[in-house]
This record gives sequence, C-alpha cells and structure tokens, in this order.
Amino acid sequence: MNFVEKLFGTHSDHELKLIQPIVDRILALQPQMRAMSDEELKAQTPKFKERLANGETLDDLLPEAFATVREAAKRVLGMEHYPVQLIGGIVLHQGRIAEMKTGEGKTLVSTCPAYLNALAGKGVYIVTVNDYLAKRDAEWMGEVHRFLGLTVGVVLNQMTPDERRAAYNCDITYVTNNELGFDYLRDNMAIYKEQLVLRNLDYCIIDEVDSVLIDEARTPLIISGQSGKSTKLYEVCDVLARQLVRGEESAEFSKMAAIMGEEITETGDFIVNEKDKVANLTEQGVHKVEQFFKIKNLADPENIEIEHNMNLALRANYLMFRDKDYVVKDNEVLIVDEFTGRIMPGRRYSDGLHQAIEAKEHVQVRRESKTLATITFQNFFNKFAKKAGMTGTAQTEEKEFRNIYGMDVIVIPTNKPVIRVDHEDAVYKTKKEKFEAVVEDVVETHEKGQPVLVGTITIETSELISNMLKKRGIPHKVLNAKYHELEAEIVADAGVHGAVTIATNMAGRGTDIKLDEESRKLGGLKIIGTERHESRRIDNQLRGRSGRQGDPGESRFYISLEDDLMRLFGSERLMSMFNAMGVPEGERIQHKMLSRAIENAQKKIEENNYGIRENLFRYDEVMNDQREAIYAIRRRVLNGENMRDMVIRMITEIVENAVDMSIADDQGPAEWDLAELNSLVLPIIPLGAIQLTEDQQDMRKEELKHLLKEKAVKLYEAKEAEFPQIEQLREVERVVLLRVIDAKWMDHIDDMDQLRQGIGLQAYGQRDPLVEYKMTGYQMFNDMLSSVREDTVRVLMHVRVEQKVEREQQATITGTNRDESAMRAPVRRKVRKIYPNDPCPCGSGKKFKQCHGKMVYDLIAQGQQPTREALQKAAEAAAAQNPANRQDA
Ligand code: ADP
Repeated sequence: MNFVEKLFGTHSDHELKLIQPIVDRILALQPQMRAMSDEELKAQTPKFKERLANGETLDDLLPEAFATVREAAKRVLGMEHYPVQLIGGIVLHQGRIAEMKTGEGKTLVSTCPAYLNALAGKGVYIVTVNDYLAKRDAEWMGEVHRFLGLTVGVVLNQMTPDERRAAYNCDITYVTNNELGFDYLRDNMAIYKEQLVLRNLDYCIIDEVDSVLIDEARTPLIISGQSGKSTKLYEVCDVLARQLVRGEESAEFSKMAAIMGEEITETGDFIVNEKDKVANLTEQGVHKVEQFFKIKNLADPENIEIEHNMNLALRANYLMFRDKDYVVKDNEVLIVDEFTGRIMPGRRYSDGLHQAIEAKEHVQVRRESKTLATITFQNFFNKFAKKAGMTGTAQTEEKEFRNIYGMDVIVIPTNKPVIRVDHEDAVYKTKKEKFEAVVEDVVETHEKGQPVLVGTITIETSELISNMLKKRGIPHKVLNAKYHELEAEIVADAGVHGAVTIATNMAGRGTDIKLDEESRKLGGLKIIGTERHESRRIDNQLRGRSGRQGDPGESRFYISLEDDLMRLFGSERLMSMFNAMGVPEGERIQHKMLSRAIENAQKKIEENNYGIRENLFRYDEVMNDQREAIYAIRRRVLNGENMRDMVIRMITEIVENAVDMSIADDQGPAEWDLAELNSLVLPIIPLGAIQLTEDQQDMRKEELKHLLKEKAVKLYEAKEAEFPQIEQLREVERVVLLRVIDAKWMDHIDDMDQLRQGIGLQAYGQRDPLVEYKMTGYQMFNDMLSSVREDTVRVLMHVRVEQKVEREQQATITGTNRDESAMRAPVRRKVRKIYPNDPCPCGSGKKFKQCHGKMVYDLIAQGQQPTREALQKAAEAAAAQNPANRQDA
C-alpha cells in the first residue's frame, strides 16, 4: 500500500463502498424469494424478460435477478451465495475483474451475472482455460440456469460445427478461450453463411482471466495451411548448429554490464543471451556457416533463408528446452505454456521455430505453414461489447488490465479471514542444496502426517523431486497438467492426511482442495515452492492453493542462487551478501532483505514482460484495424448482401485511378498519354483501345473520366444482360469477392509479418519503429485493397455464362478466370512517370517539355502519338546528364 492508499483507501475499497448498498438490497430480498414456490421462482425469468422489453435496464433488474439466482442455487445445488460472492457477481456484471482468492467459489459467483445478462437474449460466454472445466461448470452451474428456464451449452474440442453452433446459440455457453478464438477465426474464413457458428460477441466472463489475458497473450492464435517449401534446410542447419562452439557467456551476461557500457568481447561461434531470448552468431560463427554452405557472404539478401534458418537452429538448440518449453509426445513437438506449464495442443511456434525444434528432436519436420488467419487474445477479447474476468491473482497486473483491456481490478474480501502462514523464503547457494532441503522438509512434514503440495515450474523439476522422494521411500503423486480431468481428481485429495503431491503450476488448477479433520489439526496443507517464478502472480497462485475459506495452512518458497531468476537478476550481489555473512555450505539463510531483493527482481521481469506484451498489442492493433475492415466486408458478402454497388464503385475507381496515373491535370488532350492509359485500363476492363476523335480534341480530363466511367459501367451492364437470371451474377460477384479478398488478405498477413520483422531488425535512427510500421502497413493495406479491386473487376469483366449455372458450378466459372496471370497483382511502375511540366531530370531547372523532352513534344505538336518508351528514354538521358546522379566521378 502506498502513502495515498493508506490515507484514502485503495481503489477497491472505494468501489466496494459503492457496491455494498446493492448487495444489501439483494440480501433483503431473501425472505421474499424463500417464500416462493419452485414454480413461482421459475416464473421470474419470463417476467424479467418482459420488463426488459418494456424498457427497464439490466441494472434495474439486478437486485431481483441476483436474489432469484441465489435462491435457485440454494434449492438446486445446496449453496447460497455468500455476500462477498454477490459483490463479485456485481463486479463481473459491471465488466471488471473480480480478484477472489482460491476457494471463494468463483464458479458460483459467475451464475448471477451470467443469468442477468442472458436475459437480454444476446448470449453470454463463460470462458474457461480447459475443456474439463468448461464441461464441469456447464453441468454443475447449468443446473441452476436450467432450473430457471435458460438454455446452457458447452463447446468442446472434438465437436462438429453443428454442435458448436447449437451450443453458441444457447443463452449461456461454456467454452475454452482457445475454442472460442479459433471459432472466431474459422467463421471469418467461411464461404457460406450457413458455416458460421458464433453469434455476435456480446458479453463474456473469463475465468482465470490472468491466465488467458496475460499469460497467453504472447502466443497468438494462428490457423495455417501448408506451403510447398522443402524442410531439408532445417535438418542441415540443425546439424551445423550442434557442431558450433558456444561462446563465453560472461562477456554478454549481465544486463547491468551492458547498461554500464562495458565492452562486449565475443568468443566462440555464437552467443546465447537467455534473458532476452536471443542467440547470435559471432564473426567466427558467420565464417563457419559461410564455409559450410559455400557462400560468400551470409548477410547477402540471397542468403537470407540460410541466415534465418541458422538462427532458428541456434534458438531451438540453445534456448528452447525439452520438457520446459515443449514436450515431445507421439512424434510431435507440443508447446508448454511458459507460465502455466500447460500443454497447448495444436499450437505451433511461428516463423519456422517449430520446424527447427522438430529437426532438433528428430521427429518429422512438418512443412512450413502459411498463416491463413491469426489474432491475439488481446484483440480478440477486446471485440466483446462487454467483458469481465475473475481470478485469484490479478492485482499485480492491474495496470496491464486497465491499459490494454480497459478493465479495472476490484479486490473482493474473502468470506472468512485467511489464516495461512506464509514463511520467508529459504535461500541456498546451490540448486543441489536447495532440492535436498526441499526433500527434507517434505519428509519431515510427511512424518507428522501433514499434507504437502510441492509446486514446480517445470516438469523436469517435478520429476527430479519425485525421484528424490522415491529414494526416501515417500509415496507421492506427480501432476504435469497433461490429463486435466484425472489430475483434478488427484489434486482434490491433496489435503488429506499424509498426502504428498507434486504439481506444475497449472496442474489441477481451479480444483478445490479440501482438508480432512486430521490435517486441519496438523496445520493444514503445506505448500512448498521449489523456485520463484518470474511473475509474483504465479507464486501467489501456488500459495493460494492452501488456506481456503479460513482453513489453516502454510507456505514457503525455496530458492538457490543458481535458479534462473537469480542468475539473471542480481545473484552476484546476493552471493557477495552470502559471503559477507559467512554462510557455510548447505546452510540456508532467511532474511527480509533477501526476500525484498527477490521481489524486486520479479517486479523488474514483470515490467519487462508487460513491455513485451504491450508492444505486441500495439503492433497487432495495426493489423487489427485492417482485419476489422476485411472481416466487415466479408460479413456483408456472407450475409448475401447485393454487391452490385460495390462492384460498380470498384469499376469507376479503377478508371479514375488509371486516368489520374497517366494524365496530369494541366495537360491538354494533345499531351495525353493514351497508350499509358490503355495499358492500365484494358487488361482489367476490356473497353477497346481509347482514342480521341476529331471533335474530342478540346476535351477536359474530367470529361474523359466521366466518359470512360460511363462506358465501363455500360460494359458491365452488358455482362449483366448475358445472365438469364441476374441473381446468378450477383452470387458470382459474392464468390469472386470472397475468394479474391481471402487470397490477398492471406498474402497480406505474411507481408505484414515480414515488415514487422524487418522493422524490428533495422535501426530507424530517430524514428519510432511502431510509427514506421503503422505508416508502411497502412500503405501496404491500401495497395492490397487496390489489387483486390483490380482482380475482382478483372475476373467479373471476363466471366462467361455457361448453361445451368448452379452454385457449385459458379465456382468453376470464376475458376476459369482465376489463372495465375489474372490473380497476380499488376506490375507497378517502378520509375515515376514524368509529366511535361515537371522539372527536367538533367537539373537545368527548365521544364522537361522545353528541355530534354522537347524533341518528343515537338513530335506531338506535329500530330504524332509519342510512345511511353520515347518519353522514358528522354527522361533517362536527361537524368544521365545530371551531375548529381553521377557516381563514377
Ligand atoms: P474457486 O474457483 O474460487 O477456487 P470453487 O468455485 O472451486 O472456488 O469453489 C470452491 C468450493 O466452495 C466448492 O467446493 C464449492 O462447492 C464451494 N462453495 C462455493 N460457494 C459456496 C457457497 N456459497 N456455499 C457453500 N459452498 C460453496
């Protein structure tokens, strides 16, 4: 608590005061609800809906609706919401984050806002972190909602589109963040409206919201298809990467050293910087790679692929660790979420890293994939009209929730005071000493009969502790977040007398650990952390598994100076502290100052990680605006909207553009470059060569535009007339639009990705790379839109009617025109066109038409049509004369 908070109370205190009166009203309704028969209670739902229809708001209904759910839960589940649970429910209804400790009954909390908001009929999604929880909660809490006459659905991984659609159409739907996000992306790749499964994104309540919006924010959802590229290079680079010699770490080890401006000297073939998660070749390494591949210069653009793959191979071999970052199961590399230890099936590292790891692990290297659609959770969840979240640990990330998601965090008091004892960290010099101490603690606690839960960050550590315990003959269970359902059952029993459980962060998360009487007397569940996590939040989660609902309990973290966290931040200082204190081998120290130093290290990393996520968000925002625009057009097309107006507008825009590109405003008809104009228009709109007749010699540019637009539209009208039923062409328009948009958009995703990487790599002097990215991205998007326009019109202008046009065959109609040349973007003019009144490129200061262009324009004056080439040549000749252009001098 800072000074201001001490004086005025925290943000949460303030907000809780505003909420309390509403809670009081709900509680006051209890006798009235209790007096109702089941039938009367159920009849509340249609009454509420009617009142909504008559203009009352959800806020008006809130006290009665919550009181209704409270009473229903009591009758159906035997649980009546505690007052603090009602507070939580109100916070969720208000679109905020409710921080409620583990065991406070968040599952039940969500029933009130879910019910209330479902009354509006737009659908409420309750988002969980795994299928098991979605299913469990839908069944468990579904009873209350069904009792009150609402429909409840659940979406699970293996479900078909039809099943999904049905589930999403329920009043309340339980679904995981992954399924929901992927369904959104798939919906936006649909070709027919009937394929859509989601409704509008109206209101969602995200369970374990920190896990979804913070921990997973860095891994975007990606739907990809395969490209035809070979995978050989990955294997070759992997072999080479293993032969290279790793350079001295100490040279670049400390961030502090870098800040202090210490010189970095390179040794070996490559240097690995774990903190920033980069691996780079040294000069010597570059040389070895060049020799190996028999190339002159690795930095040459033509070797970009080798360079990229080499880099990936280094990262795969020296920065990605098996059983920590990923696991290998059934010949597949599966990503492990760094924060939660959860395996993320179906997700792949992007940009070739996954392939590089496959090469490293000698499993089949899958073909490189092309991204067809992608979105970050950040942008996805921001699409909801209203969103709310709940979790045991959100406060440490309050700033991020506020800045990126527009949600504030309200800390809800616990139902009963927490009496768990959190001990100071026990710090050791080496990992070995630390693990021995952990095991000793487990053995002693177990001998007393007190249950222990050992929390680890990696599967590796879990196994290590497990082996050590086996040697000591201590029976125990190990959970790795591999089998959610089974592990939930095991973890539920972690609080019984004598139980010893080892679990990674995510294993069995969200499951209630109940104490038996004996354990309660012995001090409750003891939590032993084997390492501090980068994020304090994850540590708090582990602690929070003990001491639920006023239970006794204790917790302690074990740390060594060799731990990653310590190594990366400040272990040198701590080591000297150790030495100063004269701590002998094997002895632990516990000191406030140590704990504070560790917390500071965590804070630093948290800030760093937040920076990375915020950066990702800012960059993705650029893509997001574009995605919105594209998806909006798609949606109109899918909805069967008549696209004729859009097509006509595209046609006229193409004509206008072409005229503007080939004719300057101040040119008279005699100077018009009709050849150029023809070359721009005719491949797209087959108007027939544009020529001026005798009586058109004093036409103005605008008139020409108008005339051509009219002709082009007439041509399209003639096309329309070819169709026996105009609706057939309308359908063709929609299909062509969708196809062209999708193809261009998918290429654009790649282009933007490359742009982004390029910008990350290049130093932009004083310029902000994000601004550069935005500007260039915007321009690329516009280019993409104009090529969508050109391709769509080109295809439609060349569509031919065949007999019996059915929906399936319409695809063939367009298919015939969809050959390579038709789909390829038009070659853009590299050299700027030169206009008569431009300054002459020779640098004389005269106008081009009066200087090097004079000869050509004289020919025009004699009534000849100048060719574009002739003008170009004159311009080039002029440029060659310009001393400023001469490099050989
Ligand atoms: P959380 O997700 O907040 O950790 P859970 O939703 O798993 O908590 O609930 C913890 C336990 O408390 C569950 O066993 C649940 O049945 C119980 N519980 C929750 N609310 C109540 C209540 N109002 N009355 C009685 N038991 C409750």
